[in-house]
Amino acid sequence: METISKTKKQVYHFGTQETDGDRSMRNLLGGKGANLAEMSNLGIPVPPGFTITTEVCTKYNEVGREEVIALLKEEVEKAVASIEKEMETSFGDNENPLLLSVRSGARVSMPGMMDTVLNLGLNDESVLGLVKRTNNERFAWDSYRRFVQMYGGVVLGMKAETKEDENPFEEIIDNLKGKRRIKLDTQFTVQDLQDLVYDFKDAIKKSTGRDFPTDPWEQLWGSVMAVFDSWNGDRAVYYRKINGYPADWGTAVNVQAMVFGNMGDNSGTGVCFTRDAATGVNEFNGEYLINAQGEDVVAGVRTPQQITKMGSQRWAELAQIDEVERMKDFPSLEELMPKIYTELYEYQERLEKHYHDMQDMEFTIQNGKLWILQTRNGKRTGAAMVKIAMDLLKEGQVSEKEALLMIEANKLDELLHPIFDTNALKRAPVVAQGLPASPGAATGQIVFFADEADKFKNTILVRTETSPEDLEGMNLAKGILTARGGMTSHAAVVARGMGKCCVSGAGALKINYKKRSMTVGDQVYNEGDWISLNGSTGNIIEGKVATMEPELSGEFGELMELSNKFGNLKVRTNADNPKDAKIARNFGAQGIGLARTEHMFFEVDRIKAMREMILADTTKGRKAALEELLPMQRKDFEGIFEAMEGCPVTVRLLDPPLHEFVPHQLATQKELAEDLHISLSAVKNKVAELHEFNPMLGHRGCRLGITYPEITEMQTRAIMEAALNLKAKGIESKPEIMIPLVGSFEEFECQDKVIRDTAEVVFSEYGDTVDFTIGTMIEVPRAALMADTIAEKADFFSFGTNDLTQMTFGYSRDDAGKFLTVYLEEGILKNDPFEVLDQDGVGQLVDIGTKRGRSIKPDLKVGICGEHGGEPSSVEFCHSTGMDYVSCSPFRVPIARVAAAQAALK
Ligand code: PEP
Ligand code: MG
Repeated sequence: METISKTKKQVYHFGTQETDGDRSMRNLLGGKGANLAEMSNLGIPVPPGFTITTEVCTKYNEVGREEVIALLKEEVEKAVASIEKEMETSFGDNENPLLLSVRSGARVSMPGMMDTVLNLGLNDESVLGLVKRTNNERFAWDSYRRFVQMYGGVVLGMKAETKEDENPFEEIIDNLKGKRRIKLDTQFTVQDLQDLVYDFKDAIKKSTGRDFPTDPWEQLWGSVMAVFDSWNGDRAVYYRKINGYPADWGTAVNVQAMVFGNMGDNSGTGVCFTRDAATGVNEFNGEYLINAQGEDVVAGVRTPQQITKMGSQRWAELAQIDEVERMKDFPSLEELMPKIYTELYEYQERLEKHYHDMQDMEFTIQNGKLWILQTRNGKRTGAAMVKIAMDLLKEGQVSEKEALLMIEANKLDELLHPIFDTNALKRAPVVAQGLPASPGAATGQIVFFADEADKFKNTILVRTETSPEDLEGMNLAKGILTARGGMTSHAAVVARGMGKCCVSGAGALKINYKKRSMTVGDQVYNEGDWISLNGSTGNIIEGKVATMEPELSGEFGELMELSNKFGNLKVRTNADNPKDAKIARNFGAQGIGLARTEHMFFEVDRIKAMREMILADTTKGRKAALEELLPMQRKDFEGIFEAMEGCPVTVRLLDPPLHEFVPHQLATQKELAEDLHISLSAVKNKVAELHEFNPMLGHRGCRLGITYPEITEMQTRAIMEAALNLKAKGIESKPEIMIPLVGSFEEFECQDKVIRDTAEVVFSEYGDTVDFTIGTMIEVPRAALMADTIAEKADFFSFGTNDLTQMTFGYSRDDAGKFLTVYLEEGILKNDPFEVLDQDGVGQLVDIGTKRGRSIKPDLKVGICGEHGGEPSSVEFCHSTGMDYVSCSPFRVPIARVAAAQAALK
C-alpha cells in the first residue's frame, strides 16, 4: 500500500454545501461514505459530515492511536468547523451544541459487524443547551442517556458478564421500569432519564474503572478509534472470513451531524427497500417508528410500522390486527405523513434509477423534515437476486451484460435447496406465526445460544432478538427464529444475506434463557425439541416436516438462457448414475465430464464379485470374477448413456487403490471367507498384502490397468457393448474413455492399446462400431510437464485438480484437514486450495499442460473435472486458459454456467 503522509488528503466532506467525493471512490471512502457523497451530489438531503479514508484504518493498525490523531487533527478540525457552519451549531458548545454520529463503512457492506456511536458531543452542561435550544427536555435527556449507553458499550467496553445475563444497561432500564411499574421507554419521565444517565455512568465506572469523558473531542477521537478497532473485532473478522474479504481493506469512518428522529411525534426514523429483498418483487417497502432513533428499528425493541399502506394492511393480517387497531396504533407512513412519504418515494425511485440496482435506504424525519442517512445496494436472497436482475433487464435499467454480472453465482445454490413438501405442510401443526423474514425451509432442534448452534446436527437458533455477536451461530444453524424485530431487524437482514431461513418478530414466543425454554400460550418447548420454520410464510411448526425438490422460477430459466448466450466454456457434470445425470441435464449440463466407475462397485450386488477379483491370485481367477462384473457394468453404462443421449460421456477407468474394496474388520473378513469358500487367514493375508503406506501415491490409477490389463479390458468391453446395444435401439452415445493418473507417454500408450484392441474385438463380434475417443486425466504434475508427448496419442485432457493440488502442494487430500484450518486462520493460505484453485501454483501446471498439449495437437479438447470445476473464481481461471469445458457436481451446474458467462464478459 502507498504510505500516507500529512500532505495527502485523508478527510472528505459531504453535505448540501461542500462535497469532494463520489460513488467511484468506494475503496477509499467505503461504501457508505462514497454513497453519502454521491447523494449529496444528486441534491438529496444528507446531513453534512466527513469521511476518514480506509487507508487511515490500515495506518492505525500499524502505528496506533496517537500518531493517527496527529495525522488527522488538522483536517478533522477543519471538517468539523464546516459542519458547524452548515448546521449553525458549535461542537462542544454549552448553548448550542453540535452532535455527531460516528459510523464505520467498509468498501463492502458488513451490516452490524462494526461499531457505531450516536449523539456524540453531549455532557452534563451541553445537555442543558440542547434542552434550551429544542425546548424539549425529554428529548435532550433521552439522547444523552442513549449516548452514554452506546459509548459505554462500544468505546469503554461495558458488557454482560455471562451469556445468560442481560446487557447491563438493559438490566438497569428493566429495574427502573419495574420500580416505576411501566412497560415502555416512552413512559419514562425526564427525571427517570436523568437517573438513567447517572446510573449508567456509575455502572461503567464500577465495571471498567473508567470515568465517562466530558470533553467532546476526547469523545470523538475515542469513537473514531473504536470504529477502527472494530475492524479487527471478532464479528468483523468472522464476517470477512466467511465472505473472503481481505483484512487489508480497512474501514472508513463517517462522522456526520446528528439529525433526530426522537424529537416528538413529528419526527421518526426508518429503513426502506426499493424492492422486496426476500422475493425480489418490485414493491417499495420498509419500516419506520415515530419518535425514535435508527437503532430502535433495527434492534427490534419496539414493533416497527410499515411504510406503505399496502404493506401495513398485509402485516396487520398476518399479526391478526383489525383495521381499527391498525389505524390507531400502526398506521403506515403513507397514511400518517403523506407529504413525507411522497418525498421519500421520489428519492427511492431516483436512487434506484441512478444506481440501477435495488437500494436499501435509511432515513430520519426531524420535526417534519426528511433526511436520507444512507443508501446502498440492498442485501437479498438468492431468489430475489435472480428476479431483480431479470426484472431490471426487462425494464431496460440494465443491459444483458450488467444483469449477468449482478449475479453472485454461488448464491444460486440457495434456490436449489429443498423446500417443504406441500402435502406435508397441510397437516403440519402451526404453533405460532412470525414475519416471513427470509424464505426457505428449516427443520432442527432448538438451541437458545449462538455459541451452541452446533450442539445438534440440525439446529434452529431461537432468540428474543439477535445481535452481531450471534453471526457465527446464525451461520451454523439451519434456521433462525426471533421473538422481536421486524423485516429490517438484524436477524432478518443478516439471514437474507446468508440465504438462511428466518422467521422474525414472533410476538407470541416467550423465551427464558435461564431455563433454556420458550413458551407459546401454555405450550413449552425446551432446548433439543424439534421445530420447523417456513421462511416464506412465517409459520412456526412443531416437529419435523418432510421436504421436496424446489420448483425453479421463470426468471431462473431466463438467467440460464442468458448465460448460454455469453458463456463459451461448456459445462458438464460429474455423475456416475442415471439419476444424477438427469438432474444435471435438467440444469443444463452439456455432457458428463467425469463418471467415476469405482462408485458402481460398492453396491451390495457387486462388491462380492469385486472382492473375488481382488483376492484372486491368478489372471484366470481375476478374469472369472470380472466376467461376473461385466453385465452389471454394461447396465450401468447403458443407463448413463441413455440419460445423456447425444451428449459426450467421459468414463474414467478404475482409479482407487484396491485395498479400499476389501473388508478391514474381522466379522466382515469372516463373512467374505465363507462366501468365497477360502480360509480366514487367506483373506487376512491378502488384506495385509494390499496394505500401502501411502495409498494415494500407491497402486492406483492407470497403474492398476497396467498391472491387471484384464480390468481395463472388462471396462472397455462394458462401455462398447452398452453403446452398441443403445445404437441398436436408435439411441446415440458418445463415449470418451479416460485413463487416470497418467504421468508418462508410455503409461498412456500401454492403456490406449488395451482399449483399442478390446474395442476391435467387440466391434467385430457385433459387426458394428461406435465412435469413441481416448484421453487422460492430467493430475500428476509430471503429466502437465510432459503434456506435449502425451498429446501425441491422447484425444483429450481433463485436469483432475483434486489430485493435482494434492501432489503439487504435497498436501494429502485425506489428512490436510489437520493443518489447513490453522493455515487459513494464520493467513498462510488465503483459501482452501482443494476448494478454490490455487491459480498461482497449480494454475501454472494447468496452463503449461494445456499449452504443451495444444502445441502438438491444436484442437486437443481440454477440460477440468476436479472439485474446482464448479467454483466461480476457478471457472473464470479455466476460461482464461482457453479450456473447452468445466465439469462439476449436478447442483453446481447452474453456478458454473453463470460463472462461465461472467468470465466471458469480464
Ligand atoms: C481429481 O483428482 O481431480 C479427480 C477428479 O479425481 P478423483 O477426485 O476421483 O481423484
Ligand atoms: Mg484424481
